[in-house]
Amino acid sequence: METLTHDEMPNIVRLELTNTCNLQCPHCRHHSEEKRLPENYAEYYKTPVSMTEAQVAAIIDEIAPFKPSVTLNVANEPMIAPAFRYALRKIKEAGLSGTFNTNGLGLSEAIANLLVEIQYDSVTISVDAATSETLKLARGITNLDHLVKGVETLLRVRGDRPFPRVGTTFVITDYNYKELPAFLEFWKTRADFVRVTGYIKDGRPDVSYIPGWSREQLPERVPCKQIFRDIVIRANGDVTPCVITSENPDENTLGNIFRDGGVRGVWNGAAMQRLRDLHNGGKWDEIPFCGPCDYWVETFNMKEEVKDGFLVRTPSPYTTFYNVVERLGSWDKNRVHDRQGAANVREWEGSVGVVTAGEIDPAGDEVEIDS
Ligand code: SF4
Repeated sequence: METLTHDEMPNIVRLELTNTCNLQCPHCRHHSEEKRLPENYAEYYKTPVSMTEAQVAAIIDEIAPFKPSVTLNVANEPMIAPAFRYALRKIKEAGLSGTFNTNGLGLSEAIANLLVEIQYDSVTISVDAATSETLKLARGITNLDHLVKGVETLLRVRGDRPFPRVGTTFVITDYNYKELPAFLEFWKTRADFVRVTGYIKDGRPDVSYIPGWSREQLPERVPCKQIFRDIVIRANGDVTPCVITSENPDENTLGNIFRDGGVRGVWNGAAMQRLRDLHNGGKWDEIPFCGPCDYWVETFNMKEEVKDGFLVRTPSPYTTFYNVVERLGSWDKNRVHDRQGAANVREWEGSVGVVTAGEIDPAGDEVEIDS
């Protein structure tokens, strides 16, 4: 079995500027109303924690020479973090590429002006619906027009300039998937790209939750790139193994960057290396959270096809990027843009299921996916 290697510093740095959110989206793995019940809510989330500007500066200064991509999300709404604007400027002053995903509630003209002024690389807005009724199910809010207006404000302020690239996201669930064709058609004439992701439930990515997929369709298992490419830094400095395990912040911490030698210390530390060694030895079942997880399938390289005006790119059933062909001018596939980067990937010889607008019958009950 081929093994993966890791660089001296992570290729992607996921920074959680604050550990909380101003919404309670029903499908959120961290802050939904159900998750916020005292018996369900992680201790870590019960007390709001935010990084200070000095902490953000120390992290960016340490990683800057290695040119990773920085994304300002783990389990939070980054725009409500006190250090949010500072972090945006700091990332760009350090010459790094930056992304973040937002629920869009705070997308004001002032923020749009800042993002355009500093040429922040990429912003995605969670929308998840083509109608207000479905928006209520997906996000717990009803004003789709307000959300759309926020995205349009950012697009208007940016105009023909290349940055930031602006995308909308759609977490595909059993109650919204029929709206995907309408969603793609709507945003194709407005945004630069749409990112569609599979719903992940209760810390255990099971590919059979994705319409049209079963575990039998997965290829032979390989080491998971998450622990070779990304570092997941919580607002208190703790490092969580990966985006999936971020759902359980009270467990599985691999160290703390403010106490254990910075980003470099934890990234190259014994706890992180143990996970990598187990994966490279094919012993993922010895790691309680990795054994039953299907998200390793994201390790494969992007498959690409041009269809319906999109450059459709997907590494696995969990993620599909629909890049609007007419707006690819500012996009560089060799950089880790819009989380579409290519660091530490493998080839999956089989074909990967791609959900495309033409393959979903809005009136039907079944989703058909190429596989
Ligand atoms: S296999 Fe799953 S739980 Fe394990 S590192 Fe990869 S994404 Fe995380």
